Amino acid sequence: MNMLQCYFFIILIILIHKSKSNLNPCDDFHDYVCSSDDRIIRNFTVERENIVRIPKGFIDDNKTLAIENVMNFTYFGKWYIEMLVLYNRGNTIKDCADIPDDKKPMCLIGLLDNINTTEIDVFYNALLSNINILETIKPPNGKRNRFLHWMFQTLKNETLKEIQRNGFAKDVFGVKNVHSFYALYDFNNVTVYKKARHAYETKFHQVSNNLSKKDKSMRNIDKFIRFAAIDAAMQVIQEYLDKYDARFMFQAIIANPTNDAFQYLGNIHIAIITRNDLQQPNKAIADTVFVTLHEILHKVYPYGEAEFENDQYSKTYNCSAESIKYLGKTDKVTPVENWFTLSNSHEDIVNIMALRVVMRLIAQKSINEEQMKKSLENLMGGLCVNRKMKNSAIPQHHPLELSLNNAVRQYPLFNNLYNCKKGDRMFVDLKDQCKPIEKNISIDDFVLGDVTNRTDVGGFFEDLLRTAKNMGFYFGEL
Ligand SMILES: [Zn+2]
Repeated sequence: MNMLQCYFFIILIILIHKSKSNLNPCDDFHDYVCSSDDRIIRNFTVERENIVRIPKGFIDDNKTLAIENVMNFTYFGKWYIEMLVLYNRGNTIKDCADIPDDKKPMCLIGLLDNINTTEIDVFYNALLSNINILETIKPPNGKRNRFLHWMFQTLKNETLKEIQRNGFAKDVFGVKNVHSFYALYDFNNVTVYKKARHAYETKFHQVSNNLSKKDKSMRNIDKFIRFAAIDAAMQVIQEYLDKYDARFMFQAIIANPTNDAFQYLGNIHIAIITRNDLQQPNKAIADTVFVTLHEILHKVYPYGEAEFENDQYSKTYNCSAESIKYLGKTDKVTPVENWFTLSNSHEDIVNIMALRVVMRLIAQKSINEEQMKKSLENLMGGLCVNRKMKNSAIPQHHPLELSLNNAVRQYPLFNNLYNCKKGDRMFVDLKDQCKPIEKNISIDDFVLGDVTNRTDVGGFFEDLLRTAKNMGFYFGEL
């Protein structure tokens, strides 16, 4: 390449990087922020082993094993149900409830027709992935991450305040009883995981080798052996559990390597390590804050019917639906076909609420509007959708780009901060803003307020990371 071409390339790269400034935040806030997204999110390959390793030091006792002595059949039923929960299948073990005890094992094994070995192997593979990720990242070891749980408590308290401010009783939605689990920062003792793996492998080979010939030829026996191995691993895990239910932990182990967040048995599962660029801690923590609030607020707007005495619930559904449909219709990139479903709206509504809660906290930690804007952009920057096709489908959700823009345009101070005017795509008049729990919306609830005695901490996320450091928490690899 000669010198001239070289310059051309450099200029081109600069132009691409500068393109953000040409985009208008009042037109598409997601694109305005995300066009300069430079996060590198590592894709941890989930281990896929079809063969269960023979563990080190394995000694086979060569004693024929009777099938009813392989494991406690109550536990077998428990892990089997958890597998069905994982795959969203309705079957239960009720069919075997009234069967005499000596026939129960065979009855339960018969039920395994509902699941295949690859699906069951997800547990073993997740166990291997958990070990692999923990050994790579080496996050601070602990049962509960002190900083993240302090942060969770702060967000929960702010949500409770919001609920009370709007005239609801503090515990009406059950927000108080929500707990959180920060995947691979909580309960992340790699030695325990390795012990569980060893127990799995040992049980697997012992049972595989020593069942009678007749038992070995039974239908579903290969699946049954896997459940025996899962049970052995979970017995190890359970010895170390205090705060979390074993059934939740079973689901957590499987979900840890994914970039997911969900609620199960009153616990919120939130992935950080596998869904963020740990070299950009501002964005990683912003994403964590937002997703935590999203999951907490699902208590107020859960899947299905929420219980509001008045018609606030349906009004909010319709309000959010109209707003997001407008964004879909006017997006430069046409969303995937049939993208809109009214019953998905609770996902957009909790995004609206989450943004309002966090922007209130941001206002309290800012000394000027520039800091507030920086925080909002940082928040969006941590949530940018990193995929080839904008507005493509996600199961049970509207396209994330639309949902995020929807939340931003329903943030009452947005127009003031970015000087958006009537007619701009992101503009929503204050009187038309959706009211998920509010009776009235006042701009005063979102403004900076009196800053004369406020210390400049550099903004909300900067302050949060400083607290993290003070509590000995850090992102990234050692
Ligand atoms: Zn959700």
